[in-house]
Amino acid sequence: MSRVLILGCGGVAGAAISKCCQNSRIFEEICIASRTVSKCEALKEKLEKNTDTRITTRQVDADSKDELVALIRDYKPDAVLNLVLPYQDLTIMEACLECKVDYVDTANYEPEDTTDPKWREIYEERCKRLGFSAYFDYSWQWAYFDRFREAGLTALCGSGFDPGVTSVFCAYARKHYFDEIETIDILDCNGGDHGLPFATNFNPEVNLREVSAPGSYLENGKWVEVPAMSIRREYDFKGVGKKDMYLLHHEEIEALGRNMPEVKRIRFFMTFGQSYLDHMRCLEDVGMLSTEPVEFEGCQIVPIKFLKRLLPDPASLAPRTKGRTNIGCIFTGKKEGKEKHLYIYNICDHEECYREVGSQAISYTTGVPAMIGTMLLLEGLWKKPGVFTTDEFDPDPFMEALNRCGLPWEVDENPVLVD
Ligand code: NDP
Repeated sequence: MSRVLILGCGGVAGAAISKCCQNSRIFEEICIASRTVSKCEALKEKLEKNTDTRITTRQVDADSKDELVALIRDYKPDAVLNLVLPYQDLTIMEACLECKVDYVDTANYEPEDTTDPKWREIYEERCKRLGFSAYFDYSWQWAYFDRFREAGLTALCGSGFDPGVTSVFCAYARKHYFDEIETIDILDCNGGDHGLPFATNFNPEVNLREVSAPGSYLENGKWVEVPAMSIRREYDFKGVGKKDMYLLHHEEIEALGRNMPEVKRIRFFMTFGQSYLDHMRCLEDVGMLSTEPVEFEGCQIVPIKFLKRLLPDPASLAPRTKGRTNIGCIFTGKKEGKEKHLYIYNICDHEECYREVGSQAISYTTGVPAMIGTMLLLEGLWKKPGVFTTDEFDPDPFMEALNRCGLPWEVDENPVLVD
């Protein structure tokens, strides 16, 4: 019997938990635990009529290791699926180690407080040493490798779509299509329209921190950093059409660069509409994206947190979003001495996701792989002691599960390349 503790009950968790409930043979019991327990109870009530999965709910502060340890000791899960925010990754990993339970997440660690001098010192040294300045990086979680290995536990990091599925696509291309991969371009296109002038499709604070950071890519093992949104390309996405996309720093570049050092260049592009970019530039220019507290009428306010409070909850976009996403990887390289190009991608329809689980496609494309990663871990197919990203396991069962669980993928052996 498997029992999973799922932390968080936002947009991504809503989709992941719905998919767990469609796979009751594996997810026999789940506990949904989050800060606002009423959201967990509402989701339980919505799902329990149509599933054999036994659902319970709990309130927890995922910033408190003591609360997490008490909850894990009481519930005794086989795995913990972290769908709160990247700020809590290390606290949850600590609690998992203390309770000897496997761990899964969808986003790598970044600190909530970027003014913390202890963190800042390490961050600034890393910026100089590696040459990229995003707040998030894997070093904090990779530092747990020996402790997880010695405890015989698995930490599966970044099991969303990007990162997550994109890294599985890379492992799959390497296993089945190439003798040598030379370049990887990861393309994330959201052709969805929610009809609002400005909203983010996942947690606004984490999203805006990510997209306002300088862009960077890996070339011959070295990071090349460029100003945010300064590299633009147009691409004609199947199922969506022509879109402008911009080069971003993204966490799977870091993991792939480490695990596939033979690849000469790895880049990540994401599409943005003009309205999104105009709003973001304006918010940045007036200081609203700052993570540093300012004093206002006797209160300390972090501008980006206040902005999050004003922006729509991404889950609320679900009933109003139309259109499709197309996310995938373009590979160039060699097979049996011949030049080879390949594109592996998934197309996902916002309205179909809403009809199936009540979520928009960004929550769905993240929640389904979070469920699949946890399922493979529970089945023992993706279980090995240490801290790993999704490119470090056999991609075949994951690729098979994507087709079965609502994210079918396609292969184009003659794609248009990105210059
Ligand atoms: P939401 O803001 O919608 O949900 C976050 C949830 O975590 C909320 O239920 C929130 O509670 C809860 N939470 C936050 N802080 C705490 C805390 N201290 N203790 C307990 N619960 C807490 O975020 P999303 O669902 O959009 O994103 C979830 C995760 O998925 C993020 O880490 C994000 O980076 C990642 N992600 C990954 C992607 C990928 O492809 N790999 C793509 C998109 C997102 P409350 O309801 O009280 O606010």
